[in-house]
Amino acid sequence: MWQPVEWVLALILNPAFHLMCLMFLAIGLVGLLEWLLPAHDIPSQHYGLNLCCAVVNGVAIAAATPFISAGTARVIQSVGLGLIDLRALGFDGVTGGLIAVVVGTLVLDFFQYWEHRAFHSSKILWQQHLLHHSDEYMNFTTAARHHPIEIFLVPVFVTIPMAVLFKLPPINIAALSLIPYAWDYVAHSNVRLGFGPFWWVLVSPNYHRIHHSIEPHHIDRNFAMWFPIWDIVFGTAVAPRPGECPGTGVAGESVQTLGQAYLQPLIGWRRMMLERLSSRARGSRAASDFDRQ
Ligand SMILES: [Zn+2]
Ligand SMILES: [Zn+2]
Repeated sequence: MWQPVEWVLALILNPAFHLMCLMFLAIGLVGLLEWLLPAHDIPSQHYGLNLCCAVVNGVAIAAATPFISAGTARVIQSVGLGLIDLRALGFDGVTGGLIAVVVGTLVLDFFQYWEHRAFHSSKILWQQHLLHHSDEYMNFTTAARHHPIEIFLVPVFVTIPMAVLFKLPPINIAALSLIPYAWDYVAHSNVRLGFGPFWWVLVSPNYHRIHHSIEPHHIDRNFAMWFPIWDIVFGTAVAPRPGECPGTGVAGESVQTLGQAYLQPLIGWRRMMLERLSSRARGSRAASDFDRQ
C-alpha cells in the first residue's frame, strides 16, 4: 500500500486517536450547548484572550514537554517509583482499563486538589493562578486560560508525588486519561448544569462556577477538578443550590491583553517584594527611633 495511506490508516485505527476525537467532540458539544443555552450573556470579543492563551500555551507545552518529561523522569528514577501497586486491583481488558482511568483520575485529582489549594493559599503561587480566575465571563475557553508557569508546576505538585507513591499501568493511563481532560472544558462551560442530588459524584459546571464565583462566601471553595469527594473529605465543598449560577472573576482585577496576562505574575511578585522591603525599612526606622529615646 502507498505509504501515506498506510500512515493515515494507522492513525485512524489507533485507540489514542479515537480518544482524541472523543475529546474534541465533547469540547465541540459543550461549545454548542453554551451557544444555544448560555447561563450568562457573553460579549463575543471576550473569547479572544482565552483563545490566544490556548494557542500560546499549546506552543509553550510543545516546546517545554521534552525538558519537563526528562527532568520529571530523572527525579522519579532517583527517588524510586510506585510504592503502592494499584495494579493489584486488576486492570485487564476494557473494564479493567476503565477502572484504571477512574482510579488513576481519582488519585491524580487528590494531588491536583492540593496543588490547587496551594495556588490559593500561597500569595506567591496565587499571582500566576490569578489569570485563570480573572475571567469575568467564565465559559468553556476559560479551561485554556492558564499562565504557562502552571505547566512547570504540575510535575512538582502532581506528576512526581503521584508516580513516587502509586504504581499504575502507564500505557492505559496515558491513553485513557485524555477523556477526563475533556471534562475540564465541561466544568468551565457557561451552562446551568448542577446534577441535582448527584452533585457530589462529578464536578459540574455549577459546582466549578462556585470556585470561580465573585461572591465572598464562595472564596476558597470547590477545588476539585473531577471528583467533589476530595472537597467533601477536606471540608471545602459547597453544593450548588438549584439553578445557582453566580458571576465570576476577581474583584479589582481585569485582564484584557495577552501581554497583561503573561506579565501579571511578574508585576504581582515585584509589588510583593517592594511591600516587604518598605515594611522592613519601616521596622528598622522604628527600631532606631526606639533606640534614640
Ligand atoms: Zn482556583
Ligand atoms: Zn477553573
